[in-house]
Amino acid sequence: MANMKMEKNPMPEQDPIVRAGNFDEVALGYSAEAAIDEAKRCLNCREPRCRTGCPVSVRIPEFIAKVAEGDFDAAYEIITSTNSLPAVCGRVCPQEKQCESKCVRGIKGESVAIGRLERFVADYHMNKKKKAAVKAPESNGHRIAIVGSGPAGLTCAGDLRKLGYDVTIFEAFHKSGGVLVYGIPQFRLPKEIVAAEIENLQAMGVKIVNNAIVGKSETVDELFEDGFEAVFIGSGAGLPQFLHIPGENLLGVYSANELLTRVNLMKAYRDDYDTPIKRFGRVAVVGAGNVAMDAARVAKRLGAEHVFICYGIEFNLLNNPVAIHGGEDGHVTGIELVRQELGEPDEKGRRKPVAVEGSNWILDVDTVVIAIGTSPNPLIRNTTEGLTFTKKGGIVADEGGVTAREGVFAGGDAVTGSATVILAMGAGKAGAKSIDAYIKSKK
Ligand SMILES: Cc1cc2nc3c(=O)[nH]c(=O)nc-3n(C[C@H](O)[C@H](O)[C@H](O)COP(=O)(O)OP(=O)(O)OC[C@H]3O[C@@H](n4cnc5c(N)ncnc54)[C@H](O)[C@@H]3O)c2cc1C
Ligand code: SF4
Repeated sequence: MANMKMEKNPMPEQDPIVRAGNFDEVALGYSAEAAIDEAKRCLNCREPRCRTGCPVSVRIPEFIAKVAEGDFDAAYEIITSTNSLPAVCGRVCPQEKQCESKCVRGIKGESVAIGRLERFVADYHMNKKKKAAVKAPESNGHRIAIVGSGPAGLTCAGDLRKLGYDVTIFEAFHKSGGVLVYGIPQFRLPKEIVAAEIENLQAMGVKIVNNAIVGKSETVDELFEDGFEAVFIGSGAGLPQFLHIPGENLLGVYSANELLTRVNLMKAYRDDYDTPIKRFGRVAVVGAGNVAMDAARVAKRLGAEHVFICYGIEFNLLNNPVAIHGGEDGHVTGIELVRQELGEPDEKGRRKPVAVEGSNWILDVDTVVIAIGTSPNPLIRNTTEGLTFTKKGGIVADEGGVTAREGVFAGGDAVTGSATVILAMGAGKAGAKSIDAYIKSKK
């Protein structure tokens, strides 16, 4: 008998006042009792709409049924048959826009908390003292190179290894995981979780070479010369965009990427690390997307007195930065903004913001963080013949990750520009499938 409660079981969280002063995870996860109770809200629909909303087609009602029975091991098996990073997805996927937005329980009341259940199952497995040994499939002798260890590269690697391929990931940073480790902050996605998922892949036999920048240490052509038969490029979109206004090179101006990388990867938030980072007072974050919110939350946790979000009509602030001002010491003292108002509707009915003449004003700040988007790094573009690129610098590839160059496949942010973890994973899966078909077609 299904549990017909209208609301989801709430997610236990750290108190807001306490969490503003630490980097520990905000959401604490379901207990086994809450997970079973939540799982019983699922109607086990014959035609599960939730599954159509998942880019990697997790068998949602099947795993939820196992949670309802208390068989968490079976639930884990079902999830990982299609998703190699469940503890990550359970934390950072926008489920409200994907699986949960399609759930029939959401029509009258709240959808089933699919993401929270996925996280519960993954954490249960991770915390288990005695884990079943991970099986490393026999090698089929074909070597595949993967550029980048973000969700696209890791998923592609895992799927190919399961098919028997001998897979090596080349990663520019000293730590693997892509944006999962250097972008998304610790309090939303603890780095130990990402490390554990990567260890699972390594136990399966995936090799990772860190500090290897493809295009510098070795080019894509050299990878082929070394005997790799196909290359998957999952190098992301890590190049920050700037405003191109006066004062952007002053001390105290960061791109969100730089700030988040210093904090995440170089552990600037810990007193026992000497990563150079200024203690913040008043911080202006320029941008209004997810990355801007992460940067604002990080600045707050680093002790900022005030964090201002400047930009974007999302906040109705309608202020656009025109210059950053500094003192004689070359350090930021303020950001100059111009007020905006909504202009006449264009042919699509959209009212674009226009600057109000003479309305400039200066917000006193000591730090400016620019979070207005990123694009793919040009290194691969500049060193690899035979690929084609979009105007925004993304590699042109079809849905299966097939590029203009034979044997080279691509997916994730490197193709689409900045998107989501699960879309990158979906692209990694599609790439693995295409590579398998390509190698088989050559035999
Ligand atoms: C701050 C922030 C917060 C985010 N929050 C969320 C969220 O909550 N939910 C969500 O779904 N998405 C979120 N995203 C977006 C999401 O993280 C990305 O869409 C996703 O990580 C893209 O995966 P990817 O594998 O394509 O690339 P990436 O994760 O960028 O990984 C690419 C990897 O390739 C490496 N690399 C690059 N060039 C080379 C080279 N030449 N040689 C070797 N290695 C190379 C990079 O070092 C990196 O490790 C967020 C992004 C940011 C920046
Ligand atoms: S749509 Fe909702 S209720 Fe139906 S199977 Fe999926 S999670 Fe369960």
